[in-house]
Amino acid sequence: MDRLAPLGRKLYDTRVLDLWERDTATLPRALRRRRRAYREFSRQFLSPLALEVDADPESYDPWPLLTESAKRGFQSEQLPAPLGTMPVMSIPTGLMFHTALKAEEFSAGCAGLGLAVMAHDLGAAALMLSGDLTAIRRWLVPLCRANRSGNPRLAAFAITEPGAGSDVEDTEGAPTARFVTTARRCAGGYVLNGQKIFISGGRHAHLVAVFAALEPDDGRAAHVQDDWTCFVVERGAPGFRTGRSEHKLGQRASDATELFFDDVFVPEENRVGAERSGWALNRNVLNYSRVPVAAIALGIAQSALEAAIEFTRRVRLGGRAALSYQEVQLAVADMWLDVSAMRGMVWQAARHSPSSQGVSSAAKAFCGDRAFAVANRSMDLLADHGSLSANRAEKAMRDSRLNQIYEGTNQINRLAVIEAFDTTDLRSST
Ligand SMILES: Cc1cc2nc3c(=O)[nH]c(=O)nc-3n(C[C@H](O)[C@H](O)[C@H](O)COP(=O)(O)OP(=O)(O)OC[C@H]3O[C@@H](n4cnc5c(N)ncnc54)[C@H](O)[C@@H]3O)c2cc1C
Repeated sequence: MDRLAPLGRKLYDTRVLDLWERDTATLPRALRRRRRAYREFSRQFLSPLALEVDADPESYDPWPLLTESAKRGFQSEQLPAPLGTMPVMSIPTGLMFHTALKAEEFSAGCAGLGLAVMAHDLGAAALMLSGDLTAIRRWLVPLCRANRSGNPRLAAFAITEPGAGSDVEDTEGAPTARFVTTARRCAGGYVLNGQKIFISGGRHAHLVAVFAALEPDDGRAAHVQDDWTCFVVERGAPGFRTGRSEHKLGQRASDATELFFDDVFVPEENRVGAERSGWALNRNVLNYSRVPVAAIALGIAQSALEAAIEFTRRVRLGGRAALSYQEVQLAVADMWLDVSAMRGMVWQAARHSPSSQGVSSAAKAFCGDRAFAVANRSMDLLADHGSLSANRAEKAMRDSRLNQIYEGTNQINRLAVIEAFDTTDLRSST
């Protein structure tokens, strides 16, 4: 290096690689600050609780964490200051980049606690992406105001039903979806009946963006694509109640809860967007949210990688640290390559504003699958230690498995990629 000319030395970076710092340095200033703040928060409030809450999620009270997150402005980033807390300087890079960075850092600390905090972003996204200024003013602005002042008020997003999971996330399945949640017009509004399942944050949400099929006036059968309409249902509305929260394989600190609607009266002003605009809104929320979900997988993979490095540095084989063996180094290097590729894909997808179905679904499917592979590799390296419960590799394996299922299974996301790109030849070549 010393033998190079001064200009050559300037072009040669010999610092020991700290990928996190280097990646952060490539971001615009406002996002750099945010990424640091998310990491600090995750290290202070999420990582220390991760294994304990995972072991006993039923006894966990999320409100202190939600309050801390709200106080730091992490629950009100849907709107720019002064209404919300998205820095005005960040508007050009958009909300999706913020949410993706937050998802990555929080999930590196604990994907379950991260989801408990971030489920609200999904509910709020339905309000914001509706583009309905009345709904934004009526619901999103007060949510942001309360959250900014450190008083968490949460939203949830409800599309999944007992007979309709993929079918309400996929164009092919929608025409035959067996949905039960319907809305009937009545004086001054609508009456909702039905059930939703697996709703993240449903146990604690103050309001839920519920998608229901508006009964047609002309006697034809209701249809998800043609009749779905989004409504805000507030906690405490007569006839609305929560049911069971599922005992899940992973991301256990976050609740996935049943919601029941029995003749719930919803005033006209609780409709989000126009009647029958729900399918388009749903698709756009998923296009937007699949990037942060890919970032959750990335954070989990990062955590599994760190667990493997920490373990193989500490454990000695034949008198040497396990990490000094070349086979172990090759495994760690492969994991590192996967994590770097995932980050590249997530950040690239997050730059697409507005979000794009093919790009978002590709990131979601790729990162979900790679995170599971990285966690599995981490389990290989931890060997018998990995098989014990209460370790980060085992938790990462369980947490990453869920990412392959929600926000559309990875199979459905692959189909969404095919649908989004111009694949006429591919589809007609059977
Ligand atoms: C932890 C967690 C949190 C969740 N949070 C929420 C939430 O906040 N809000 C919400 O509304 N939902 C939520 N969900 C629901 C989630 O989005 C659904 O579970 C998911 O869409 C899959 O639906 P399903 O389980 O009904 O699977 P199914 O639709 O029954 O699919 C079963 C299998 O068939 C395959 N399949 C289905 N259709 C096709 C097809 N056309 N072509 C090829 N293969 C197909 C699927 O890929 C899958 O392998 C959550 C789920 C989990 C696990």
